[in-house]
Amino acid sequence: MHVASTAVLISEVGPRDGLQSIKTIMPTLNKKLWVDALFNAGIREIEVASFVPARMLPQMADAAEIVQHAKTLNGLTVLALVPNLKGAEHAILAGADKITIPVSASAAHSLANVRKTREEMIKELKRIVEFRNAHAPSIKIEVGIATAFGCTLQGLVAEDEVIGLAEQAALAGVDDVGLSDTTGYANPSQIKRLFRRLRGAIGDKAGAAHLHNTRGLGLANCLAAYEEGVTSFDSSMGGLGGCPYAPGASGNVVTEDLVFMFEAMGVRTGVDLDKLFRAREVLQAGLPHEAIYGMVPEAGLPKGFDAYKENLR
Ligand code: ZN
Repeated sequence: MHVASTAVLISEVGPRDGLQSIKTIMPTLNKKLWVDALFNAGIREIEVASFVPARMLPQMADAAEIVQHAKTLNGLTVLALVPNLKGAEHAILAGADKITIPVSASAAHSLANVRKTREEMIKELKRIVEFRNAHAPSIKIEVGIATAFGCTLQGLVAEDEVIGLAEQAALAGVDDVGLSDTTGYANPSQIKRLFRRLRGAIGDKAGAAHLHNTRGLGLANCLAAYEEGVTSFDSSMGGLGGCPYAPGASGNVVTEDLVFMFEAMGVRTGVDLDKLFRAREVLQAGLPHEAIYGMVPEAGLPKGFDAYKENLR
């Protein structure tokens, strides 16, 4: 298959992963304007919020309101992160189309992030799937195996444990299971090896790549995953992100740079780069004192890029 024939889905996680990892709380109105601008740029899946108690993450206190607003955008898949059944109930009640649940491959990170062991998280997954099946069968459930490539708390994470956990999650009845480099430890060879093993273990349920750029390998890792057949990528506008419970974790892959890479390769993302840069201005207006990142927005598009892209069609 020629690369140009394969489209990818860019799933924007900035409103959740980005905003929960900075101290500044973006006002609700600015969040809505940012979600609108992302949608206008062609983004069709946005992880808009995390359903956790507001005392733990005050940045996410308006989660239900943001989900309800995002639901007004026709054709957008509204995704919400939930750590447990209670969060899932709230997210589904608010109207989320899809929920994503982090399951840590690292025993230490699991306790720090969700205060549960990995085994307890698999049991929680089963409860969430039962609730979904009984009350909201159209809602999709995704699991992201967090710290799949290494952990800032415990160091090495055994690949067999990552794949074993993905198998248990798939057996619990979730729709897909992706791999997350929560800590930015991954390299392209490791990415290829693990995504290949993931597909071998759970077939069509193999899901998205959620990669961070902490050590500068974010785009290289995305390309490696793409070459291994992954077609759904999480990224964050301006490279915002991290994990409040994984010390030293920082920055997701920058959406603007990721879209540029795929579009330049002739891989369709459905995203308009000029409109994406406008959405970045909306983000910056909502967070005037936060640094936002990205190479392509800084440098601008190459001269003649539109004509070059036309030639690829
Ligand atoms: Zn992340």
